[in-house]
Amino acid sequence: MAPDIPTLMMMVTVAAMVMAATLMAVAWGERSDGIKLWAGALCCLALAYVLFLLRGRIPDPVSILLGNGLASAATSLVLAAICRFQGRTLPWLAMLLPPLALVGLLWLFLDDFTTRVTLTALIMAGQSAWVFWALWERRSAYQGRGVRLVMAAMGLQTVVLLVRGTSSASRAMGAQNMLQADAIQILTFVSAFASLLVASLGFIFMHKERADEANRRLAALDELTGVANRRSIIAALDRDVSRAIRTREPLAVMMVDIDFFKHINDTHGHLAGDQVLRNVVDVIRHRIRAQDIVGRYGGEEFMVLLCDTTLQGARQLAEQLREAVQASFCPWNGERLAVTVSVGVFGGRLEPGDGWDQLIHAADQALYRAKQGGRNRVEIAPTLGRLAGHGRANGSPETLPSSLH
Ligand code: GH3
Ligand code: MG
Ligand code: MG
Repeated sequence: MAPDIPTLMMMVTVAAMVMAATLMAVAWGERSDGIKLWAGALCCLALAYVLFLLRGRIPDPVSILLGNGLASAATSLVLAAICRFQGRTLPWLAMLLPPLALVGLLWLFLDDFTTRVTLTALIMAGQSAWVFWALWERRSAYQGRGVRLVMAAMGLQTVVLLVRGTSSASRAMGAQNMLQADAIQILTFVSAFASLLVASLGFIFMHKERADEANRRLAALDELTGVANRRSIIAALDRDVSRAIRTREPLAVMMVDIDFFKHINDTHGHLAGDQVLRNVVDVIRHRIRAQDIVGRYGGEEFMVLLCDTTLQGARQLAEQLREAVQASFCPWNGERLAVTVSVGVFGGRLEPGDGWDQLIHAADQALYRAKQGGRNRVEIAPTLGRLAGHGRANGSPETLPSSLH
């Protein structure tokens, strides 16, 4: 049983309207990053299909010129929505040129169905390919599945429209008008229906994936300095401890604490203190290896994890960091604020049963000695002082230690 074309067109119309209403409900009152443009595209498409369905009952120029112009404008709006999502703006000319060119050409061939189908299909295939290209070009920036769904839908649309255009150009199409059924007509409208659903859902997924990623970052990073926050640095330490026990590779941990930081806040204000924190983080970041991790453990205290690093290596790096911080000046209101740091270092091989909290404790004890010893210095903890009756910290980084001072 061959589906009849008006029914297929009706399905496309209803699907486009329902999707547009759903997207508008999602985007209402929110920063939409292109969702409203996408909803606008679906409205244009729905209106175009209503005009196609009315072919023969309304004047031909309205159904043909306005209908196809709206269908082409829908793809332009899809491209504009994708550009908006990517943070760029599609120039008006690029958006208007394809629909205007199509309407102009169709006006010249108003009485020639075959040429009209060829022109429309080829121009709209080009537009779909353009959308595909806009996503492909920046595919590395969006890793999720949403973008793949949109690309699959736009790729399918491009291929189907190329098939339609070339079949029509080679007179291989059986249908003699827009509402008549043949294989190409059925393929065109079934694929329009499928692509509109898949692409719209894909675009929604793209937003969801972006929001999820932002939430993940928010939950894992320290807002002020951009390095790992306390929770994620301890989770990373827990992972590294397990790996170091398994592989028997040495592991080092540094606790870096800014000296007399309260004095900076009291003298220059908290904003200056914040700037100093960012400055110290920059210095640390530039001197550690890519595989090392730095995190903000507390107010002005940072933890650095150094995988596969001996105590000797960690101590050398700690000295370099200390000197680098001392040599760096934090610009503030035309002044150059000087700061120093004290560093406590633990490094060595771990034994089964050792826990992340013991490493923190050892590095913290060394840091305490560095403070006692006059600050702006590095102290080491060569052994993992086991606390009496203290085993692994429940094996979970979620059990954050209270202040170890
Ligand atoms: P020490 O040399 O012994 O480490 O002395 P200190 O002044 O650095 O240490 P103390 O613990 O007395 O003071 C730490 C200060 O850090 C107190 C707190 O107000 C400040 N602080 C904590 N978090 C932030 C922050 O995010 N921004 C700013 N500006 N200050 C912070
Ligand atoms: Mg301090
Ligand atoms: Mg401190």
